[in-house]
Amino acid sequence: MPGGFDISTKALRDELDGPLLLPGDDGYDEARAVWNAMVDRRPRLVARCANTADVAAAIRFGRTHDLEIGVRCGGHGILGAAVPEDGLMIDLTPMGAVRVDPRARRARVQGGALLGALDVASQAHGLATTAGNVSHTGVGGLTLGGGMGWLARQHGLSCDNVVSFEVVTAEGRRVQANAEDNPELYWGLRGGGGNFGVVTDFEFALHPEAGRTLLADFFFELDDAPAAFRGWRDLNATAPRQATFTAWVGDKDGRPQASVGLVWVGDPDEGRKLLPALRALGRPAAESVRELTYLELQTMDDSVEGHTFRRYWKGQYFSELSDAAIEAFLLRGTPDGRGEGLPAASLQAYGGAIAAVPVADTAFSQRDALFEFVAAARWDDPAEDEARMAAARRYGRALSPFASGAYVNVLADEGSAGVRSAYRTEQLARLTALKDAWDPDNVFHLNHNIRPSRA
Ligand code: FAD
Repeated sequence: MPGGFDISTKALRDELDGPLLLPGDDGYDEARAVWNAMVDRRPRLVARCANTADVAAAIRFGRTHDLEIGVRCGGHGILGAAVPEDGLMIDLTPMGAVRVDPRARRARVQGGALLGALDVASQAHGLATTAGNVSHTGVGGLTLGGGMGWLARQHGLSCDNVVSFEVVTAEGRRVQANAEDNPELYWGLRGGGGNFGVVTDFEFALHPEAGRTLLADFFFELDDAPAAFRGWRDLNATAPRQATFTAWVGDKDGRPQASVGLVWVGDPDEGRKLLPALRALGRPAAESVRELTYLELQTMDDSVEGHTFRRYWKGQYFSELSDAAIEAFLLRGTPDGRGEGLPAASLQAYGGAIAAVPVADTAFSQRDALFEFVAAARWDDPAEDEARMAAARRYGRALSPFASGAYVNVLADEGSAGVRSAYRTEQLARLTALKDAWDPDNVFHLNHNIRPSRA
């Protein structure tokens, strides 16, 4: 450690309301553990921030001491970029509160909150806003990159529902970003990720939501799947906004299978009207149709997507889904769709209110996405790391000729090429100008980085 570091650490500790953790301290190992169990980095300091002033103090301290700064909310960044090796982790998890104003239909959400807290607090008043599909994901990372969920076709992405952000800048200054104050920053925070500052408070618009949903999956043997997928794709073109069409390929009952279906948020009886057409797409080997409350829907994948597994994802957007893309999806990067340790993958429909937002209105650039593809590798044994990641990369490569772009929140180790695939040229130029204005020294670079022009 550099000379004098301990004294300076004491200065930060005195300034923080939350605890400052060093290696060996109680809670240090829990704080640095994230969703992807492959991530085993050891920050020199973890500032568990209790409030906005703590965040500002931590940023200033990190800069003064030239420490690499990572910002952690839910810890679900695919490769755990929030955890800096030998740097300073600004840990927002103590800032997890959500306050709902049911009359104004607004939620004030602290920068370290998890989606589950937002969903539960909103549903207590018969309200909801778009949030992702797994409740232990962070509001912070998800919203700043876009935020896709089962309500998005009705109400837009999570970022489309943010009316105001409170941000601590790279200089440690607190500012607001909304349609009136710092409108360009407001534009960039809706899709540009954690590049421009630390968001300590999100104000979301909420919508009436009775909380009833319907889920349907029709499973097909691999040989029967292409025809069913083509019909499912065609039905998606006219699906109501309450329906988000879903598809999956993976191993089930010891063999590769695929499914098509939907998630419906609204009156389940209305949703059921779509099922005969889906069922008639072929000869389903099995089907599953369930009614869930909205909160059950929002937590149903919590354990399968739980912590402790090793993970690697590949994601892409398709603005159209050709027959050839369907074939490639079903084959999972192999000649015949069969093999050991292949990742399972999903398709989730976009469109509706997502596509209704003009592309220039937010930094999120992929308004023409029709489906999001995610191949999700999950395993336990470190000895399988290389093979599992290679299989996912092979799968991603097989799909890339059909891709129209990528979702910044699902990028892994694609680097600057990934960032270029997430944003249109105009958006990237505007984001770079914003970075120059708010973080010219690239303090916030442990993310899918928008580089300042002089870097
Ligand atoms: P973190 O690792 O804590 O943060 C990721 C990055 O975001 C940080 O490195 C930092 O740069 C930035 N950041 C986070 N919080 C702040 C803040 N308050 N201020 C400034 N910067 C911040 N995405 C969807 O759109 N829809 C889904 O349904 C969905 N489901 C998912 C399910 C799982 C199991 C996982 C692992 C991911 C899912 N994602 C989904 C992708 C998800 O949006 C990203 O992984 C996102 O980065 C997670 O945010 P986080 O706060 O949990 O992660």
